[in-house]
Amino acid sequence: MKKISFLALTFLAIASTISAQTKQPMEMKPEMTEIWEPEVPVVTPGRTAADAPSDAIILFDGNDLSKEWTNAEGGLPGWKVADGCVTVVKGAGIIKTKKLFDDCQLHIEWRTPAKVEGESQGRGNSGIFMQERYEVQVLDSYNNRTYRNGQAGSIYKQYAPLVNVCKAPGEWQSYDIIYTAPRFNNDGTYFTRPAITILQNGVLIQNHVELRGPTQYIGIPEYFVEKHGAAAIVLQDHGNPVSFRNIWIRKL
Ligand code: MG
Repeated sequence: MKKISFLALTFLAIASTISAQTKQPMEMKPEMTEIWEPEVPVVTPGRTAADAPSDAIILFDGNDLSKEWTNAEGGLPGWKVADGCVTVVKGAGIIKTKKLFDDCQLHIEWRTPAKVEGESQGRGNSGIFMQERYEVQVLDSYNNRTYRNGQAGSIYKQYAPLVNVCKAPGEWQSYDIIYTAPRFNNDGTYFTRPAITILQNGVLIQNHVELRGPTQYIGIPEYFVEKHGAAAIVLQDHGNPVSFRNIWIRKL
C-alpha cells in the first residue's frame, strides 16, 4: 500500500483545483485521499473512563497534595488530605497546580458534604478555575435552587449547564472538562475565545461554549480581557468542606 503524506495530499488538492478550473476531470483513486504519516500516537486507556490514560499527568492520587499543588503564595497547600481525597479547609484559600496548562482535558471528582448546610450559593460551593480565570462551578445543586448560571456545572455567570445531573450530597461526582485556551490579538483582545465542553457524571452539560471573558462575580466579563498564556488549574475555597479526588490532566 502506497503511503500518502499530508504534503502529498496538499499537492493533490491543488492539482484537483487546477483540474476543476480547466474543466479537465482528474481520475481519483481511493488511496489518493488516504493520509498515513505521521502515525497517530498510541495511548493506553484506563480500565474505566475515570482511570487516567497512559499520557495523563496525575495531579492528585489521593495521597500527596504538595507534589503538584501549592497555596496562593506558592507555599504548602493548607487543605486536608485523608481517606484518599483532599478537602477544602475554610480560610486556607485556594490551591493551584505547580504546572501550567492551556489546552487540556481534565478529569476531576468532587463531593459536596453529606451533611446539608446552607442554601443556594452557600451549599457545597467550590470551583475549578481553568487558566486561573475561568470558573467551572462546583456546588450542591441537588434540590437546591440558585441562579441557573451559577449552579453546578455552570460556567459561572456565563453559561448554565444543559441539564442538572447532580447526585445527592455526599456522593462522588465527576467532571470531564475539555478546554481550549484563548488565542489573542496583539492588542490583548481575544482572537479566539476560551471554549469549554464538560461531561458531568458522563452526561454532556456544556457543549463547546465560548466564554465572554474571565469569570466576574460582579459585572459583565467582556470588559476585563487581558492577554495571558498557560496558567495553573485553581480549586476554590468558598468556605464549604468540598472534597476532591482522582485528578488527572492531559495536555492537548
Ligand atoms: Mg464557586
